[in-house]
Amino acid sequence: MRKAIIGNWKMHGTRPGALALAEAAATHVRKVRPECEVVLCPPAVFLYEIDAAIASSGVKLGGQDCHAAAEGPFTGDISAAQLKEAGCSHVIVGHSERRAAYGEHNDAVRDKAAQAITQGLIPIICVGEPAEIRQQGQAEAFVGAAARACVPEGVMPVQFLLAYEPVWSIGTGNTPTLDDIIRMHAHLKTLLPGAAVLYGGSVKGSNAAAILGLPEVDGALVGGASLKAEEFCAIVDAA
Ligand code: PEP
Repeated sequence: MRKAIIGNWKMHGTRPGALALAEAAATHVRKVRPECEVVLCPPAVFLYEIDAAIASSGVKLGGQDCHAAAEGPFTGDISAAQLKEAGCSHVIVGHSERRAAYGEHNDAVRDKAAQAITQGLIPIICVGEPAEIRQQGQAEAFVGAAARACVPEGVMPVQFLLAYEPVWSIGTGNTPTLDDIIRMHAHLKTLLPGAAVLYGGSVKGSNAAAILGLPEVDGALVGGASLKAEEFCAIVDAA
């Protein structure tokens, strides 16, 4: 399997900046790295324009969240079907920022993932432990339970991606040791045979080769570094 590099732009950027970033990534992939699996997850308001900007580059598009329902009176939310219509192939669900800000728990994440799959999207299901859980030596049990709870029953491994994102690593510049990453990814792959497991948390150009070089790591979910074209392209090169 090709290692997937997912850029999560979160709530950053302006329209011109977003388009320039998408064009830079698309040009790099088309000209230099056509074999790479790259997915951009911009703010939803930019999806249609970015879909046009990355056309025929091989770069894919993803949403940052979707609702668990097919449609309905949910002000401010976006459905998986709407993401699909806007050109998305993927959608992030269960990101720790949404879990923290909106109280999203594993059951809600599982329902979002199920809805995404129903609509033909690949959910990128995020799981990760807070610092205190790691300090207590409970990281594998915590993350393993979350992964099991968030993957809908009966789905095949090709229908989703799992992203191991330690909460304490996101946006901090701190990463687990390579051994810790290997152990967690091996654990998740044992629990969910056949599943692709991405790593996320302070991935940047300078550490991407070491992390992505691990056979247990099937790709990276990249936040901050995905907002800088040069950094993001360096991560794509490492993959
Ligand atoms: C993320 O938000 O998913 C993430 C991994 O962020 P960062 O790369 O900035 O740590």
